[in-house]
Amino acid sequence: MDSMVNKYTANRRLRSEDAYSPDGRHDMRPEYPTIVYSKILKQLFPDVPVILGGIEASLRRLTHYDYWQDKLQKCILCDAGADLLIYGMGEKPILELARQLSEGVVIKDIRDIPQTVYLSRREEIPGGIREDDIVLHSHEECLKKKRSQAENFRHIEEQSNMMHAQRLLQGVDGRFVVVNPPYPPMTTEELDASFDLPYTRQPHPKYKGKRIPAYDMIKHSVNIHRGCFGGCAFCTISAHQGKFISCRSKESILKEVKQVMEMPDFKGYLSDLGGPSANMYGMAGRNKKACEKCRRPSCIHPQICPNLDTNHSRLLDVYHAVDALPGIKRSFIGSGVRYDLLLYRSKDEEANRAALQYTRELIIRHVSGRLKVAPEHTSDRVLYLMRKPSFQQFYEFKRQFDRINKEENLREQIIPYFISSHPGCREEDMAELAVITKNLDFHLEQVQDFTPTPMTNATETWYSGYDPYTLEEVFSAKSQKEKLAQRQYFFWYKPEERRNIEQSLRRIGRPDLISKLYNGNNRAEHHPQEPRQEKRGRNRRHK
Ligand code: SF4
Repeated sequence: MDSMVNKYTANRRLRSEDAYSPDGRHDMRPEYPTIVYSKILKQLFPDVPVILGGIEASLRRLTHYDYWQDKLQKCILCDAGADLLIYGMGEKPILELARQLSEGVVIKDIRDIPQTVYLSRREEIPGGIREDDIVLHSHEECLKKKRSQAENFRHIEEQSNMMHAQRLLQGVDGRFVVVNPPYPPMTTEELDASFDLPYTRQPHPKYKGKRIPAYDMIKHSVNIHRGCFGGCAFCTISAHQGKFISCRSKESILKEVKQVMEMPDFKGYLSDLGGPSANMYGMAGRNKKACEKCRRPSCIHPQICPNLDTNHSRLLDVYHAVDALPGIKRSFIGSGVRYDLLLYRSKDEEANRAALQYTRELIIRHVSGRLKVAPEHTSDRVLYLMRKPSFQQFYEFKRQFDRINKEENLREQIIPYFISSHPGCREEDMAELAVITKNLDFHLEQVQDFTPTPMTNATETWYSGYDPYTLEEVFSAKSQKEKLAQRQYFFWYKPEERRNIEQSLRRIGRPDLISKLYNGNNRAEHHPQEPRQEKRGRNRRHK
């Protein structure tokens, strides 16, 4: 998680708990710790190379919008005073860096390692500015023109997700930030070797006896792959891990599951077998040559690429092998499931059968009573800007979910996640979201206000007012008042919200929605085209 998201809420308020600190203390880490710690290290040991890595540095490798200061910030190297930055997952660059340093190469001469970023004077850029380099608008130009920042972001995202990317250069303070292209995605053997290192699976011994909230969440979970080809506009994964999936072997996954089983507090329940998205394991383009040239930020938006092999068989094989281990009572899937991949019907009949089987097994064996999915919105226009599938697909998935629950005599719930104030979302879209989700008999709880985090398509749209790809103008709710006006619709069912919502609906010229939300005795209305959610006794929410 980004250090600033971990520290502050979407309203820029200090969070009550720091998920990564002992006992959740929120006063143990400064703002922008990478900058603060690097400066201290450089003061104490000016001759020792300082290399930045991790999410905070990775997502600040070029000029980016900083929501907490409400301004554009330079590449983090400028403020941190460090020598080099490694972005993305660092295993390969750090090994190469260690090799060169151990051979006596001085840090200022290490300029050729993929996935690294450095500051350089123009005349010292290796090979000079080449024809195949992409020279972005300088930081100073971006400060003057928001559209330049939007134009830059398209290149940044494309190059972060290409198999053979170009070098990116950006002028700042009379120098250039040089971003070397990333390494190719890790092979299974390479990823296995990384996961097979002798990790203790424990927090630092210094924190013995203390509770680390983030550790509690992940200690009985196993990561099975990296990368995500969803390309959601508000997500940072594509800038950090990229869209190509790197998978661990089944053997490596089983080895780690067995380590978890030996943990003293393990009771037979794995909390997650997942990755950035739960069900992309083993998926890739069939024609690799096409993927090598591809610039799409998403393999599944606006349509699922016909070249993408969406077969869930390899993933099912992993689930079956894990569940067959004596001592595993249940393996849950806590990572987000892409239901558009489950609904997709390709020409490959085996893949279609595997998707149906996966859906059924997921619901029967891997859900702890509540399946969390992320439609994120109900407006197809907003969903398009989010790079998410049409809300019709949620209806379809819910139909399947309800049918399987009925057939198997289960009482599971589907828990949808939604976002307010995403670029392109107007108050009216939220009002309609309230009516649509009411008709589905949902009282929403998993909701969030859009937080502009560094280096996402949505953040740069929100800041600049332009879609980085089309350069069309996009509205965003920005002020606290506008954001709260959107957010209130999530909670239409709370008596204390009703008055404000009714006033707002009149103000935006949609009084017709008042009766749709608050008809008669305030019971949920039945949507004419959609099945009503079954009454589920004790599992039914908010009743
Ligand atoms: S060609 Fe298709 S499968 Fe391959 S990377 Fe591009 S979108 Fe993804």
